Amino acid sequence: MTARILSGNAIRDQIYSELQAEIESLRAQGIRPGLAAVLVGDNPASKMYVGSKTAACSQLGLFSETITPPESTSTEDMLKLVASLNARDDIDGILVQLPLPKQVDSKKVLEAVSPDKDVDGFHPVSMGRLVSGRAGLVACTPAGVMEILRRSGIAIEGANAVVMGRSDIVGKPMALLLMHAHATVTICHSKTRNLPEVARRGDIVIAAMGRTAMITPDYIRPGATVIDVGTNRVTDPAEAGRIFANVPSRLEKFREKGSTIVGDVHPDVAQVAGAITPVPGGVGPLTIAMLMSNTVRAARLRRGASNAAAAKR
Ligand code: NAP
Repeated sequence: MTARILSGNAIRDQIYSELQAEIESLRAQGIRPGLAAVLVGDNPASKMYVGSKTAACSQLGLFSETITPPESTSTEDMLKLVASLNARDDIDGILVQLPLPKQVDSKKVLEAVSPDKDVDGFHPVSMGRLVSGRAGLVACTPAGVMEILRRSGIAIEGANAVVMGRSDIVGKPMALLLMHAHATVTICHSKTRNLPEVARRGDIVIAAMGRTAMITPDYIRPGATVIDVGTNRVTDPAEAGRIFANVPSRLEKFREKGSTIVGDVHPDVAQVAGAITPVPGGVGPLTIAMLMSNTVRAARLRRGASNAAAAKR
């Protein structure tokens, strides 16, 4: 069996075209949703993530502003910055790119973001709303995974869903969203015993551990849907050779570039699964799409706008 590939790029394009109608309707009411991205220091990965997010804003016609405090910034300076962004009417969403430098109290900074502008969904108020099943801004990556499942026609109600990883930003909200969608959810972590056996119970398996190609075909029940959240950079040719032994095209690309991004799921799983997300081009594009969607939603809710396109969704 070769799995159906669930393309995140195609689903992102669908979501963008729906968002465009909503943005147009806001524009007619004099509203241009705005996102502030706070990018501290010189971390190349953080720069790349923020660059992709602001590029998506300009693609969709949203306002965006990147604020770049130095690596030496303090918790106090970050709190002042967040307070000033909370007070600005042209800013609907505040994104504080993680990780923050060691000397900064990240939790304190994230908790200072107004819940109305918490487009990353990391604030305890947003998490609390999610736990109690109330409308709110939901963390982008798990929200994006739900879009992939729903828009690909994967049955969630009654399904056994296995979530591997229990982080605040992926695993926990993922498990809650699946539970609210009536899946029977098992949450796994580094202390879970017999992980392959537990994973094999899953009709839907979500891998979010940050462990390169760890999920091999023996973890997967034939026909299951596998969502690969992991993004791991591989630069070692021997490791790439092992992972892509059966995918010569990826090995060829690796040799050209000298590095590649690999998920938590081994590529050979595509021979067992019923459906699978690729890495790259699976969950990643949806994370950005949901950030855009949250920013537009935050603008509509905070500024009291009406929207025919949104009402239909
Ligand atoms: P994280 O905070 O490091 O959490 C990893 C989770 O996986 C933890 O709960 C950990 O268990 C569990 N885990 C680690 N090793 C394990 C093992 N051998 N067996 C079972 N569970 C294990 O990571 P994260 O922020 O959630 O991110 C997870 C992955 O998703 C990373 O690769 C990250 O780069 C990627 N990611 C991708 C996107 C995207 O847009 N595509 C967005 C966010 C994150 P413990 O709790 O016991 O330590």
